[in-house]
Amino acid sequence: MQLNDNFQKLQKNYLFANIGQRVRAYQAAHPEADIIRLGIGDVTRPLPAAAIEAMHRAVEDMAGADTFVGYPTDYGLHFLEDAIQADYARIGVDVDISEIYISDGAKSDTGNIGDIFGADNAVAVCDPVYPVYVDTNVMAGRAGEIAADGHWSKLLYLTCTAENDFAPQVPDEHADLVYLCSPNNPTGQAMSEAQLSDWVAYANREGAVLLYDAAYEAFITDGSPRSIFLIPGARTCAIEFRSFSKTAGFTGVRCAYTVVPKELERNGINIGTLWGRRQATKFNGVSYITQKGAEATLTEEGRVQVQETLDYYQANAKAIRAGLESAGFKCWGGINSPYVWLKAPEGMASWDLFDLLLNECQIVGTPGSGFGPAGEGYFRLTGFGTAERTAEAVRRIQARFA
Ligand code: PLP
Repeated sequence: MQLNDNFQKLQKNYLFANIGQRVRAYQAAHPEADIIRLGIGDVTRPLPAAAIEAMHRAVEDMAGADTFVGYPTDYGLHFLEDAIQADYARIGVDVDISEIYISDGAKSDTGNIGDIFGADNAVAVCDPVYPVYVDTNVMAGRAGEIAADGHWSKLLYLTCTAENDFAPQVPDEHADLVYLCSPNNPTGQAMSEAQLSDWVAYANREGAVLLYDAAYEAFITDGSPRSIFLIPGARTCAIEFRSFSKTAGFTGVRCAYTVVPKELERNGINIGTLWGRRQATKFNGVSYITQKGAEATLTEEGRVQVQETLDYYQANAKAIRAGLESAGFKCWGGINSPYVWLKAPEGMASWDLFDLLLNECQIVGTPGSGFGPAGEGYFRLTGFGTAERTAEAVRRIQARFA
């Protein structure tokens, strides 16, 4: 028996376990403490009414012999593909129905996409980073060994720092696969048209494929590109991942999609054909009820409801950023994103700020070092809480630091 030894190399995900442990210990020692959780990465508002109504109707469809739906077609049901195509058209992007692959999540898709690429490809990831990109490459044997500094020997790191405004810069080295995430988790920063154009030029020059995670595109408010396909040349070098999770509150319902342009080929082989084969073999589609719900979020009525919720989270994120800045913190994100990324006071490590905020303000956030070595000294707060609790958290931070 041989196991996939790469799994033994995976680092334990201490981040959220460690956070939970410290919060429990604090609560046990201070039972009266009124703790505010701003570390949350999940949505909290209910689904848009249009989605709820559509899913109720879809359940009724399942009760009728004439309207019952069994296995959904391989890459998604046509009504949802049409709605996604129209959604892209609204921002001026032409996507063919055959290029859309509907799935149960951007986590699965960004995690599974590695299946269609060989084990010897050079992979570039940002630091700090959404950990799925790294761990799935560790599993596939593409990451090498972990070094003392927390970096994997075979990965190429695109270090995102205050100096580059947390935008990954095109490297001198060659990479075959490049994971980009914009607006970014954890930094909350969206990449500009110029920055994305640099990456598209790099990928076309190097023969690389950009794996572009746009799970937070709906949070963009400043005109930054909402799709990599708005950048000329992207159709020959990019795959885009999108999700209904953070956009429409589908984190628990599960629906997402990946777009692989027809022009994307490597070694004379069409990449979409490989992804289609991978999905049709290992995945049996998203339930009809879910796809009906997702479709409803893209109707006129659904869009208005979705926007109300996005506005709610955005207002929280803006309030956090403004409040922290007035208390003397340097912040990023919070404009095109539910995430606010802040610099800990000079010389303070991420976990020290975690302990300080928990002990002195009864606020829970996420230490930046949990997203990679370059996140050390930074901290993430999110706009996914309630408006009232967010405002109270800001008051407490201002009282402590201002
Ligand atoms: N991509 C990024 C960058 C995320 O932060 C998340 C969730 O937090 C996901 C993907 C997961 O999306 P989904 O719920 O569609 O799997």
